[in-house]
Amino acid sequence: MPQAQKQQDAPASKDLVVFSILREAKCSDCGVEIWRGGLISMENGSPLCMECADLDHLVELTLGDVALTRRAKKHSGLWAVIVRFSRSRGHYERQGLVVVEDDLKGAEEECAADAGKREARREIDAVRRVQQDSKLTDAMSAKIRELFPGCSPAEARSIAAHTTVRGSGRVGRTEAGRSLDERAITAAAIAAIRHKHTRYDRLLMGGMERHEARAAIREDVDRVLERWQAPRR
Ligand SMILES: [Zn+2]
Repeated sequence: MPQAQKQQDAPASKDLVVFSILREAKCSDCGVEIWRGGLISMENGSPLCMECADLDHLVELTLGDVALTRRAKKHSGLWAVIVRFSRSRGHYERQGLVVVEDDLKGAEEECAADAGKREARREIDAVRRVQQDSKLTDAMSAKIRELFPGCSPAEARSIAAHTTVRGSGRVGRTEAGRSLDERAITAAAIAAIRHKHTRYDRLLMGGMERHEARAAIREDVDRVLERWQAPRR
């Protein structure tokens, strides 16, 4: 099927969309290979890996539980619809969502309130697919605190855990991240600041272009970085 026709069939709503790919692709920015079944974002007609698209802090939530899906949308500061092209049906189909991992807590609480707690727990665990290498996380967390004394221990821990998720392709899994390279850790800290301490996710959610959104929050990022770099008082 010609590419143009596929695009035409893509969801017409203003929801952000990421694509679960049927064929291997290469990120047009960093050049990383994305496997079949992996997620990409399309920017100006070119594929971007989730990391380059600044969407790698989002986790997959597969369709199936209507209540959980609705609640995850409500609580998540940024989310995108996952679609995959169905060759047999000739159009894109919704597969699920990607949502902010931390924001799932709100959805989790609501689900726990009206479902059995254990059942809710199981659902959340099933969608998170988070496997952490705790030793690497500990080392990285300590290194973050060394470079950024002003960053709280809890947040350092959260950045370290996020960047070291196995198989995520995030900076913590790269050679530089494993050797606790200063630049790699700074990059991880900046990514976290963008998503948690600025309007970045809201701007993306509102449809702003990534480059524009980055420019709009640059000063906010610098301000937080400066605060983190200063010794804790
Ligand atoms: Zn990339």
